[in-house]
Amino acid sequence: MAEKVDVLICGSGSAGLCAALWLSLYGISYRVIEKRPGPLEIGQADGVQTRTVEIFDAFNIAEPLLRDSYHVLEIAFWVSPNHDGTIRRSHFAADKETAISHQPHVILNQARLNEIIIDEIRRVGEFPVEYGTEVKTVEVDAELAADPEAYAVRVTAEQGGVAKEYAAKYVLGCDGAHSTVRKALGFKMLGDTSDSVWGVMDVYPLTDFPDIRKKAVIHADAGNLMIIPREGDSMVRFYLELPTGTKVKDVSLESLQAHARKVFSPYRMEIAETAWWSAYAIGQRRADFFTKSHRAFLTGDACHTHSPKAGQGMNVSLQDGYNIGWKLGAVLTGQSPASLLETYVSERESTATELIEFDRYFTQLFSSKYRAANGITSEQFAEGFVKSGRYTAGQAVKYDQSAIISLNPESKTLAANVDIGMRLPTAQVVRWSDAKAVQLPKLLPSVGRWYVVIFAGDINDAAAAARLEKTAAGLKAVAEQHTPAGADPDSLIDPVLVLSGKRTSVSQEAIPEFFTPVTGKWKMKSLHKVVFDDESYNSGHGHAYEAYGVDPAVGALIIVRPDQYTAKVTTVADVEGVASFFQGFLNKVR
Ligand SMILES: Cc1cc2nc3c(=O)[nH]c(=O)nc-3n(C[C@H](O)[C@H](O)[C@H](O)COP(=O)(O)OP(=O)(O)OC[C@H]3O[C@@H](n4cnc5c(N)ncnc54)[C@H](O)[C@@H]3O)c2cc1C
Repeated sequence: MAEKVDVLICGSGSAGLCAALWLSLYGISYRVIEKRPGPLEIGQADGVQTRTVEIFDAFNIAEPLLRDSYHVLEIAFWVSPNHDGTIRRSHFAADKETAISHQPHVILNQARLNEIIIDEIRRVGEFPVEYGTEVKTVEVDAELAADPEAYAVRVTAEQGGVAKEYAAKYVLGCDGAHSTVRKALGFKMLGDTSDSVWGVMDVYPLTDFPDIRKKAVIHADAGNLMIIPREGDSMVRFYLELPTGTKVKDVSLESLQAHARKVFSPYRMEIAETAWWSAYAIGQRRADFFTKSHRAFLTGDACHTHSPKAGQGMNVSLQDGYNIGWKLGAVLTGQSPASLLETYVSERESTATELIEFDRYFTQLFSSKYRAANGITSEQFAEGFVKSGRYTAGQAVKYDQSAIISLNPESKTLAANVDIGMRLPTAQVVRWSDAKAVQLPKLLPSVGRWYVVIFAGDINDAAAAARLEKTAAGLKAVAEQHTPAGADPDSLIDPVLVLSGKRTSVSQEAIPEFFTPVTGKWKMKSLHKVVFDDESYNSGHGHAYEAYGVDPAVGALIIVRPDQYTAKVTTVADVEGVASFFQGFLNKVR
């Protein structure tokens, strides 16, 4: 008998775990099957983009990540100007533009990163994982798929030589670059046929090289090498691009160490111990399809692979899981129709395609042959490297028009610095209730809610106050239509009020009740949704209206998705626009 489960996640890498965390938060019945005997213990990816740190913060699990990781602040560039087998530093550069994110770019091994997610899943409830279970076949019944309640996907697996069978409503293929799920669905990887081979070693180096505790890019006559200092203050990762034609099976630890010694010449480079090493071939490829019948979906390396230089693999994979997880949660809890899942495919297919194009450019930039052929100087290389920061930070993702992205060129007149389709940028605001300075996204955590962020200006002004009062009444009615009876009024559509002017000049009576809803076990007024763009006691002034490009006299209303992407920007008075936007993808329950 097949075991029934709403969602079957095949593979417990970063993509699968991120989707699993969402499903736990939504209370969905799901199972993870993983062929390893237990969680990942060592090795693999390590670069954590600022966007991924923001996602951890949205799940409220950034603290262990920031505590345990190496923080990348500076890059050292090294070259071999005289082609005499020696290297010298050309310059230093900041790792990222400050404006990209308030979160840092950090380095942490993927095993620890995965563990932080698993710990959070366990904090929420049970972690329904079956280790030592290998997926063998996946079949989607196209006829059954038309019925949203049907268990339309059959999966067979093997656990310790024993055959297992599952019937699932949805299956996620999160099973990595050699995905069995992808093959079973009959999908192919498209793109480069020639893989570049990389050597990677986590080592304890005995060296007089001065930048060993910095991220460094070395272009030596002997080849390209990138240093990524690891968490703690002794281990370092080396990425070595191996000569064209190298075969993974021919790479040995000794050959990697000898290669590294040559690159670092004239500096001493002895390796006291190697904690982990690997050689792997990476091509820039994506799957021809990301879904079968919108019942089986591919995520992560199963549907796109990149070179490791731009540090994309783990991050983009995790962000696939972040994209599909809340959508499955919304569909399976009845908030949204199944058509919402179509946006996973449109959004992540185009993200994968763009990243592969970027990765190709970035790879060429690294290739000494390409630079020589195109006359790219080491200064131009360094400039290109830093300019690519928005991509490598994961902050260039922009989703296109869909049921959940309402593009509108006029939005720039309301919020000049907010891009619909991109994640909402951050700015500091001060909480009205307790004077705490917070980053605005802290009010928009990833808990399965849609946020309506209203920049209402200064409500000491009678006209602004009257406008807000009217909008609040309208939005209350909109939220009620989609929120189940008995649930907290903010549990699906959650209001956030950003006021300008003096925080201490506004009393509770002046704030419409919609922004201080009665919630929770004790039915208390929630006071944390109202913030001011004002001076704080110890952290200065965030100038949030200026940061978002909103004129306090005009105001703006911004709808933010459960994954913190900006969905719609409109006027404060446009309740009708908000209502019709939500009707496009939220079921009416009252
Ligand atoms: C050896 C190696 C070294 C790497 N080093 C780097 C690096 O240094 N830097 C970098 O940026 N990226 C690196 N990568 C890539 C990076 O780790 C991936 O991009 C990232 O892990 C992708 O996440 P994912 O969740 O999609 O897949 P994965 O992390 O690969 O997870 C897939 C999971 O599915 C499981 N699985 C596979 N097949 C089955 C099956 N049939 N049934 C059940 N479970 C299955 C696997 O055991 C695994 O746990 C490396 C990858 C590998 C394999």
